[in-house]
Amino acid sequence: MKRFFSLFLLLLLLLCSGCSAPTVGDTGTFNEFFAMDTIMRVTVHGDAGEPAASAAREEIERLEKLLSRTLPDSQVSQLNAHAGEEDAVALEGDLISLLTFARSLSADLDDALDITIAPVMDAWGFTTDHHQIPTQAQLDALLPLVDCQTLEIDPQAGTARLPNAGMAVDLGAVAKGFAAGRAESVIRAAGADSALLDLGRNITAIGVKPTGEPWRVAVQDPQDSNLYLGVLALTDQTCSTSGGYERYFEEDGVVYHHIIDPSTGYPAHSGLLSVTVVSPDALLADALSTALFVAGPERALDYWRREGGFELILCGEDGVVTATEGLEDAFAFQGEDGGYTYEIARR
Ligand code: ADP
Ligand code: MG
Repeated sequence: MKRFFSLFLLLLLLLCSGCSAPTVGDTGTFNEFFAMDTIMRVTVHGDAGEPAASAAREEIERLEKLLSRTLPDSQVSQLNAHAGEEDAVALEGDLISLLTFARSLSADLDDALDITIAPVMDAWGFTTDHHQIPTQAQLDALLPLVDCQTLEIDPQAGTARLPNAGMAVDLGAVAKGFAAGRAESVIRAAGADSALLDLGRNITAIGVKPTGEPWRVAVQDPQDSNLYLGVLALTDQTCSTSGGYERYFEEDGVVYHHIIDPSTGYPAHSGLLSVTVVSPDALLADALSTALFVAGPERALDYWRREGGFELILCGEDGVVTATEGLEDAFAFQGEDGGYTYEIARR
């Protein structure tokens, strides 16, 4: 399902950007690979294209080895393996800063985002793809373990500690955005200034297309993979989309998806079908798309009104697509075919 959507998105990207898949030495370098449980595509234009694309891929693969909790040797797995023990675990600076960021954003958002959601993800079988519906008793036993504010981080010592046995960190909501931000830096450092990164629904546009126009990225209709809500023009920005349609299972006609409300342990049901965040900060875009999907439309717009640094496209269950005013020119709404109506939210 995930791969299908990624391929579909690529097709739309190619259609919308009006360019065919570039090859080395032609219009740029195109590098496609599988990492962080998704298909990733890195396209870099210009003379530095080839080394820049390779360096970006290496950086993403390095971060996967650090951040994945399904790779037993990763640093996240080390942290999780020592949960509840007295001694803190020594971690690389990258992981310390990502943990610190996620804990602080969680506090800002009343725990809609919680990277210690791992035990609940496991109970639903999302980690292994052997899906099941946990009992309320199971969830009641696991929910006290979900509290990232208790994660102890010592940036000076470079250590972190999960205070209770059974706690575990899952960076699924933020790892791709973190990797996108780092890949972006690596590409710029290699001297390239025109590139597009597609890290599984996290699309990072570096500079502009070789034609001088902004990159164009389609936002998918969460209810119909053949349609889209509209097209975004992006320059030096990431757009990240989260929605229940991305990864889910169905039982007795009920859909259970992979974004969990930490306050209930159940898939979030906040009135939104998808949230797209546009920001110059790739990590913020990824983290917020997950968090605001859980938080729901009112809290999402409240947060947007309070904070700067990002814009939103909210697709509501009521069929209303809402874009925040900063996207008024950059987003071309095309959701009429899917039966959506369109509104602009103002500050
Ligand atoms: P995807 O990674 O599928 O593109 P997201 O960025 O929205 O989509 O991240 C979803 C992932 O985040 C889940 O698969 C899970 O690993 C993790 N997750 C689910 N619910 C939460 C939550 N409330 N807070 C933090 N992480 C979550
Ligand atoms: Mg996310």
